[in-house]
Amino acid sequence: MSGHSDSGIKARVRTVRERIAAACERAGRDPAGVTLIAASKTQGPGAVAAAWRAGIRDFGENRVQEALAKMPLVEALTGAGLDGPRWHLIGHLQRNKAKAAAGAFVILHGVDSARLVDTLAGSGHATRILFEVNVAGEATKHGASPEELDALIAHAARYPTISVEGLMTVAPLATDPEDVRPVFRALRLLAEAHNLSTLSMGMTNDFEVAIEEGATHVRVGRAIFGVRA
Ligand SMILES: *Cc1c(COP(=O)(O)O)cnc(C)c1O
Repeated sequence: MSGHSDSGIKARVRTVRERIAAACERAGRDPAGVTLIAASKTQGPGAVAAAWRAGIRDFGENRVQEALAKMPLVEALTGAGLDGPRWHLIGHLQRNKAKAAAGAFVILHGVDSARLVDTLAGSGHATRILFEVNVAGEATKHGASPEELDALIAHAARYPTISVEGLMTVAPLATDPEDVRPVFRALRLLAEAHNLSTLSMGMTNDFEVAIEEGATHVRVGRAIFGVRA
C-alpha cells in the first residue's frame, strides 16, 4: 500500500534504518558510513516533505525536470532553507539536461560517458559525479562497461571542476538478493582498484546485501514511500 501519511512514512523509515543497522552489524560496519537516499521519483512534494520530517535528508530523483519542479515546493514545505534537502540525481543523465543538472544536485550518480563529462565541465559549475557501471552487462541498462572505466576516469581528470567520487550501479532484478551479491562485490573491487570511496548501490530489494558488500549510499524508494503510482 502506498501510505503517504506522516505516520506511515515514519514507520517505514524507521524499519529501513533498523535493517541498515542490522546489515552494518553483520558486516562490522558503522551505520554512519551508509547514507540513506530516499528515491522520491514520482512522489509528490507532500510525501517528500513527510520523509523529511521522518529524518531523511538525502533525496534521489531520476528526471531533471521533475526534480527541478519539485525542489522549491519541498523546500517551501520543509522551511529548511540552505540546510534543506540534499538532492541527488540517481537516474541516467541526458546530455541536453546536463547543464541544468550540474547546478541543481549535490551529486550526479548516473554519468556514463566522456561526452557527458565534457558537457558537465562546460556548465561552469563544480560538479561531483559517480560513474554508473553496468556490471552485469545488461543490454537494457545504462552505464559504462567495467572496461571503459579507466578511460572515463582519465578523461574526467582533465577537468578541475569535475570530481569523480565513486561508482554507482543498478543490479539486475532478482527474486533472491543473494543472486546479485557478485554484482555489488564487483563494483566495490572496481572502486578500490581506482581509489574511489563512494559506492552507490542497493535499492528496496537488495540494499542489505549491498551494504554487506560496502555500499556507502543506498537508494531506497518503495520501502520508504510504498508502492509507486
Ligand atoms: C527507482 C530507483 C531506485 C529505488 O528503487 P526502489 O526499488 O523503489 O527502492 C533506486 N535507484 C534508481 C536508479 C532508481 O531509478
